[in-house]
Amino acid sequence: MGLPHYDLHCHSTASDGALSPIELLELAKNNNIEVLALTDHDTVAGVKVLQAENPAEIKIITGAELTCLWNGRVIHIVGLGVNLESDDLKSYLANLSDLRIERSKKIAQQLISMGLPDVFEQAKQFAGQGSIGRPHFARALREQGAVANEQQAFKKYLGIGKKGDVKMAWPELSETVGVIKAAGGIAVLAHPTKYKMTFTKLRLVIADFVGCGGEAIEVSYPGVTPDHHYHLLRIAKENNLLLSAGSDFHAPSQGWTDLGKYPPIKFEGQHVLERLLN
Ligand code: AMP
Ligand code: MN
Ligand code: MN
Ligand code: MN
Repeated sequence: MGLPHYDLHCHSTASDGALSPIELLELAKNNNIEVLALTDHDTVAGVKVLQAENPAEIKIITGAELTCLWNGRVIHIVGLGVNLESDDLKSYLANLSDLRIERSKKIAQQLISMGLPDVFEQAKQFAGQGSIGRPHFARALREQGAVANEQQAFKKYLGIGKKGDVKMAWPELSETVGVIKAAGGIAVLAHPTKYKMTFTKLRLVIADFVGCGGEAIEVSYPGVTPDHHYHLLRIAKENNLLLSAGSDFHAPSQGWTDLGKYPPIKFEGQHVLERLLN
């Protein structure tokens, strides 16, 4: 099937990625990527930079990876092809930005309550103008010698269910899918096997996702096993979902992944690019 070389999920310094949007674009060129969606957490600031750059070699698809709640659990929905001028999207993202700042203060307090150093200022500095998140705290904890590496910071303090994984009133799944659709985009369920849910539970998420207008699902990303991949393809088919894939690239130092790299899709279902490129 003649799809271009694409990556529909990656991050820049506009959220928790290591490369600026322009550096990411250079890497995309080096990796022969033809279609790129920059999907930073809860912001489109980096996408605007890429749009202004308007590279001749690479088709830029607008995007964001939106944090939301399903039954009290955090899940990620990628919005692709959204109109950046949508007022609904703008006010939605402004609220998310406030929530992230509020959360960052709470995370810092939680870490202090566990006897760790106060890393608030440093985490804020690492986030810069970008969307502040747990990875900035993980890095600050490492820099201060409180943990050996970021992975350990998540394992002990910041990962799912840990004290630094501060609960917030993120928007509900239906609201998130709604705002993506209101902005003319396609809602994609991100990395479905990364939520520590059983497939039984995941099917409930997907039923609700489809029920509120979700249209696509990531079936390939680093870490997806062949077994998961086939499972996801079956679920996509049963629910008439378009297929998507991406590297979830954050940094060149993550040796196990690279921009544009993810297992090939083993099935010719309808691909989300067929909609996005038309
Ligand atoms: P946040 O958006 O602040 O909730 O942070 C979520 C981000 O943290 C994810 O997008 C990953 O980049 C990173 N992350 C989540 N879990 C881990 C983990 N166990 N190890 C390393 N990074 C993680
Ligand atoms: Mn991330
Ligand atoms: Mn994610
Ligand atoms: Mn991501």
